[in-house]
Amino acid sequence: MNIVLLGGPGAGKGTQSEFLTAEFGMLHISTGDLLREAVANQTEAGVKAKSFMDAGELVPDEVILGIMQEKFETSDLSNGLILDGFPRNTEQAIALDKMLDCLGAQIDKAILIDTPNDIIIQRICSRRMCKSCGHIGSVLGMNAEDAAAYVCPDCGGEMYQRDDDNEATVQNRIDVYMEKTAPLIDYYSKQNKLAKVDGSPSVPKEVFENLKAVLE
Ligand code: AMP
Repeated sequence: MNIVLLGGPGAGKGTQSEFLTAEFGMLHISTGDLLREAVANQTEAGVKAKSFMDAGELVPDEVILGIMQEKFETSDLSNGLILDGFPRNTEQAIALDKMLDCLGAQIDKAILIDTPNDIIIQRICSRRMCKSCGHIGSVLGMNAEDAAAYVCPDCGGEMYQRDDDNEATVQNRIDVYMEKTAPLIDYYSKQNKLAKVDGSPSVPKEVFENLKAVLE
């Protein structure tokens, strides 16, 4: 099954993708992760993308579509796909349908993780990511000392705060989501592929139970 996860920044797409991969063995593709890797490696795509990412703007379609085309060509898609952070606008959704069509595949479901903005802002400002394995965690509710000593529960790696996970950038990311990405709700709804999950529970496994229910 090939799934698109929709939802604003901090809605929990990355965390739910980790759960889906662990339970069903699907391939998780996060364009945000691919871009952060490209920025860290200072590739041509990474150099082009960095200023857009820092500002909370969408990276130009040609950069993203080039990255995705290469990813599809070099990956085993036979266990199914979870697309996290892609597509981000209607042009990307149309391009995705074409790319998958060429591979004899299609999107089966788009799942909207529906999360109120106040929760999104709180989650983003406390989100941390593992430098080694990419695990997503949170320092919400921790005192400063515990937050500073927080290491990855999966691999013991260093947990860091993403450059764009700050209050200044988050409002723009929400605005960009509303303007450019939210229209995809209608795009997939018209194809009878849309399902909705409440993303507000603070326990991610609770969200996952609801997500699994819509997959069945
Ligand atoms: P994310 O990790 O999904 O929150 O993405 C982080 C940033 O990477 C976004 O704010 C965008 O600047 C950029 N980005 C990720 N995916 C895309 C995409 N499909 N199209 C354009 N920009 C993207």
